[in-house]
Amino acid sequence: LDRRLDAPNSGDELGRLAGTLNRMIERLERSFEEIRRFTADAAHELRTPLTVMRNEAEVALRAPRDPDQYRRVLENMLEEIERLTRLAEQLLFLCREDAGLVPLAREPVRLDELVRDAAEHMRVVAEEKEIDLRVEPSAAAIVVGDADQLRRLLFNILDNAVKYTPPGGSVSAGVGRLGPHARAVVSDTGIGIPQEHLPHVFGRFYRVDPARGPEASGTGLGLAICRAIAEAHGGKLHIESVVGRGTKVMLVLPVLEPGGEPHDRGRPSV
Ligand code: ADP
Repeated sequence: LDRRLDAPNSGDELGRLAGTLNRMIERLERSFEEIRRFTADAAHELRTPLTVMRNEAEVALRAPRDPDQYRRVLENMLEEIERLTRLAEQLLFLCREDAGLVPLAREPVRLDELVRDAAEHMRVVAEEKEIDLRVEPSAAAIVVGDADQLRRLLFNILDNAVKYTPPGGSVSAGVGRLGPHARAVVSDTGIGIPQEHLPHVFGRFYRVDPARGPEASGTGLGLAICRAIAEAHGGKLHIESVVGRGTKVMLVLPVLEPGGEPHDRGRPSV
């Protein structure tokens, strides 16, 4: 069904109006297509852990087993339940964010301290994997925003850095100034991301290789959430990577000058 309007003589006013309407229709169609894809991907992602759990339960019930086997079944099921819980929470956040329903505090926040906090939360996991996690010393960098959301963003990025770095590697985090902006950088010496995938990694449900080890446990929503949070703060996320060498993720936010307003205002709180 072609919903486009005829614009036989695009030089006159009616033609221009038809052109504008056609562009609006195209934009709407693209949005609907995105929503359709998001819903289909979400349904698929929800179904996978459910299928795993059903299979585990069926096999366990079919034949009597020793307690160790039951324990393994329960452990697998618990892992899938945790995955489902994370997925549900991430989906809820993105849907609420899309609808403008996520309240955004606008308070002065020490970005350097948030980076240090987030890194401290990752320390145990990094040590277990024998990854050298370093926080570079940095001067105070004050931005305006929501400390909980920024902490979540930084934690996600650090979590990825540790997840996608093999044992023995290193992860470093630091904050610097870039003109009127503060820049938090997380670098790792991990597996890296092929260039052709880089433009897509902030997309919803996007994983470079869903069958590859660490990605198999991911949802592909983490970086989409990070980008939504960065943009809500009037900031940006950048990523650079070299396969086999490592990845660098940068968060750039407008800095709060002493006694002043941030250079670039983010979305007002709701
Ligand atoms: P996931 O939950 O799968 O980690 P993300 O949205 O956080 O989802 O990341 C999307 C994809 O980007 C990951 O599946 C992975 O392929 C890739 N990726 C993200 N961070 C890194 C990193 N530091 N090193 C290598 N690959 C990464």
